[in-house]
This record gives sequence, structure tokens and C-alpha cells, in this order.
Amino acid sequence: MNSVSSTLQFWRPRSAGAHAWLRAVVTTRHGGRSPAPYDTLNLGLATGDAPQHVHENRRRVQQALGIAPGNLHVLHQVHGTAIWDVPGPCPAEGDGLRTTVPGVALVVGIADCVPAFAWDARTRHLALVHAGWRGTAAGILAGALSHFLDSGSRAEDLHVALGPCIGPCCYVVSADVAAQFPPPATRSAAAGLHLDLRSANRSQAEGLGVLPQNIESDPPCTGCNPAQFFSHRRERGHTGRLWAVAWIDAGVE
Ligand SMILES: [Zn+2]
Repeated sequence: MNSVSSTLQFWRPRSAGAHAWLRAVVTTRHGGRSPAPYDTLNLGLATGDAPQHVHENRRRVQQALGIAPGNLHVLHQVHGTAIWDVPGPCPAEGDGLRTTVPGVALVVGIADCVPAFAWDARTRHLALVHAGWRGTAAGILAGALSHFLDSGSRAEDLHVALGPCIGPCCYVVSADVAAQFPPPATRSAAAGLHLDLRSANRSQAEGLGVLPQNIESDPPCTGCNPAQFFSHRRERGHTGRLWAVAWIDAGVE
């Protein structure tokens, strides 16, 4: 794609900017070395792209973000609800990570699924989860927030920010899938049943008492932004993966 730049560019949730200790980014297609259809910053190994391209792309991201080698924690994602504490026993399969340790970077790979950042502004607990329709239906974000509350967090200190994901505009699903989501997450239109994963995840956060003003749920649609983001749906499976990355800045008291 000619419009893809050779310089790394990141998307950042607005709300994270109010918390100096918090770092939260999502990569874009820009700044990597992979050829089409993985152009250019593909960070997923299980995509058909050459592993050496992916490893070089990951190295560039790690370097640009200033994360120490070995501090990036990448999961084998399975559309489940397991959330692991890091550092800790090496997580095998799972779809979420949690930490309280500065410098430890949480990573989830996405290309339409929702990356959901969650943090406690008072205790500086941080979590990052991967929520596609299966993970959203199973309540992975609710699970992350429940753990915060069980660990002493107060609901009013909790924040959630959703990263780029497929919007209802581009997400027509089967009746079986739609049936797992009550309105307003699903609505019927001419093209079929549209699923709004942002709304469904926002509802989970509100259901656990997160204040509406502390939930950022209007990220860009991956399907609508081919110059910026990979989209599994738009490209019918032949595409790369973006990374959502979050960590606690070791240098901020
Ligand atoms: Zn869209």
C-alpha cells in the first residue's frame, strides 16, 4: 500500500494521557518491513508472513517504545477469559495480562478484536485484555475489572479505554452470534445483524460500577481505516496483526 509510511506511528487512548505513569499505545500499519498483504508493521507470527519480518517489526516497536528486551509479554491468544499476572509463571494460553510492576509491558495482538486497557488510577494496577466476540460474550473485561475490585480497588478509581477495533458499521454477524448480545449491542439493518463490541464492553464496565466518564469507548473502526489498521474482516483473513501495548512507566513517581 503506497500510503503506508516507513515511520512508526502509534494510536493512543485520550484518557491515558491524564495519568503520567501510564503508557498505552496501539500500533498502526506504519513503520514495518513486511510486504503486502502484511504491509508493513505486521506483528503476528501466525499470519503467513515471514517470521524474520515479524521479528524485525517487533524489534522496531520495542526500540521505539523504549521497552527492555525480555519485558514484552506476548500471549498465545485463544478467545478465552484467562488473565495472567506478569511477571510470573510463563503464561501459556490466555487473552489478558495484568501487572503492578513498572517496566513490564503487556501485549495483545489484534486485527478487529477489541483491545481493552483497564487501570486503577489510585493503586496503579494495569490490565490489558483481548476481546473479540467470544471473549466479550464470555466477559473477559468484566473479569479483569472484578479482579481489581477483589484486590481492593474502588470502582470510582477504575478506568477503561478501548482501542481500535471493528465497529458496528463493518461487523455483520450471524443470528447465533448476535443472540449472545442483548440490545443495544446488536441492531438489525439492511445488511443484516450488526454487532457493536464497543457497546458490549462498555456495558460490562458500567455494570461493575466504572463511572461513565471514565470509560473511553469511541476508538476508530479497523474496518473503515485501511490506511491505518489491519482488519481481518475487511481483508478476508489475509492481513497482519496490530499490537496493543501497555506498561507502567518506571520513571514516574
Ligand atoms: Zn467500520
